[in-house]
Amino acid sequence: MVKAQLIIKNAIYFAGTTFKNGDIIVNNNIISQIEAPGSFTGTAERVLDGKGLLVLPGVIDSHVHFRDPGRCDREDFSSGSVAAASGGVTTVIEMPNVIPPPYSAEQIKKRIAIGEQKSLIDFSFYAAAGYDNRNNYDEMKACGISAFKTFLHAPPKGREAEFMGLTAENTGELFAVLQKAAGVDGRFFFHCENESLINELEKQLHKQGKEGYDFHYNSRPNVAEAQSVATIIELARATGAKVGICHVSTAEAAELIKRAKADGLDIVAEACYHHLLFSHADIDRLGPYAKCNPPLRSAQNVEALWKYVTDGTIDYLGSDHAPLLADEKKSGEHHIWQAFSGIAGVEVMVTLIVNEWHKRHLCQKQMVRLLSENAAKAFGFYPRKGKIAVGSDGDFTIINPSVSRQLSIEQMYSKAAVNNKIFEGLTVNNTIAYTVSRGQVVAEDGKVDMSLRGRGQFIMTNRGGVKNA
Ligand SMILES: [Zn+2]
Repeated sequence: MVKAQLIIKNAIYFAGTTFKNGDIIVNNNIISQIEAPGSFTGTAERVLDGKGLLVLPGVIDSHVHFRDPGRCDREDFSSGSVAAASGGVTTVIEMPNVIPPPYSAEQIKKRIAIGEQKSLIDFSFYAAAGYDNRNNYDEMKACGISAFKTFLHAPPKGREAEFMGLTAENTGELFAVLQKAAGVDGRFFFHCENESLINELEKQLHKQGKEGYDFHYNSRPNVAEAQSVATIIELARATGAKVGICHVSTAEAAELIKRAKADGLDIVAEACYHHLLFSHADIDRLGPYAKCNPPLRSAQNVEALWKYVTDGTIDYLGSDHAPLLADEKKSGEHHIWQAFSGIAGVEVMVTLIVNEWHKRHLCQKQMVRLLSENAAKAFGFYPRKGKIAVGSDGDFTIINPSVSRQLSIEQMYSKAAVNNKIFEGLTVNNTIAYTVSRGQVVAEDGKVDMSLRGRGQFIMTNRGGVKNA
């Protein structure tokens, strides 16, 4: 009898609409059979005892920055993907602000080659969708990418080459981007914060000498996000483009998205888990180490945002893993505005979300949709990813829900782990027992098999992401 690649015996797994118990068999990277628990009699190269464990479809992190090429001192595809795998993530979608950005088919192909050379897990990209390269969208789409990202500000003076294809400087250029987007079978994503509003408030705060750690969130209030989301919604309505809002952090913005969805607009929304777990109090305590954009919000807003997670306005969760050098954070200890923005939490996202879900007694089925299924749909990977069913990839995030442990920077793989003070010492009620990518165990109890770097595949998408309603 031919040996299977992998069997997970006696697994409690998510079967699309409900949790079931069964034996899952993977062959040639793909789930080939699901049998009644204990009934599979064949052998396999690897047998996992699923008893007491929770088997989720492999988690997709919709938002990571691996800085490769261009800033591999901060992170690279190897270290970033290892960190992701350690934390139970099996697919990442990587952001285009690298040097040079992926603004053409030629640049996209170069990035795919880097990923295939270094990545431990499967990956896709956001293509750079600026005003200047808007005639390249179709050729980038033809490379198998359906997600595009536009930055809503001018390229910093003297750094134009670094920002090639990333920016729309004003509402007119943004409109032109979305006019073009409407003809592309893809989805266009935005970081929504109104830059000029923030610049004005920064000036006011400096003038008033209000320069404590609260400078950061006081210069980037909720209205800066809501105003920017409103612009995207109206331009999408006018042009017919499919859009997505990255890291929605305010109840005001979420409410606008909820209404736009009710109107039938094709829009998806991501929330990043740090906006759901941390608040102003963490910035007051940790300063630059809790500095990210959009900023952590008030405790009251955090609770309000949870309502939009549970009512389905937020489609999926990401980490916005944004690694930085130690000095780039330390420089803000005295003057917070001098620190770079970003939290690098790809490797603790899943464990913290599972922990929080348990604490809040929320629906586990919805947790699976937010961590995997909905992103797979939005980015055009479904049902290859995001589903445990015969014919889908053998990607699993396997949780042990009955171990208490403390998170520690020392156990983290990211090059930027030293900055992760916000996670240090947090207690969680679970471990990531196994991370399985296409039938191969790539991490066990958070420990990664480093010899597997370079096995990750670029995941092609052939459609622009299905509507999530
Ligand atoms: Zn980001």
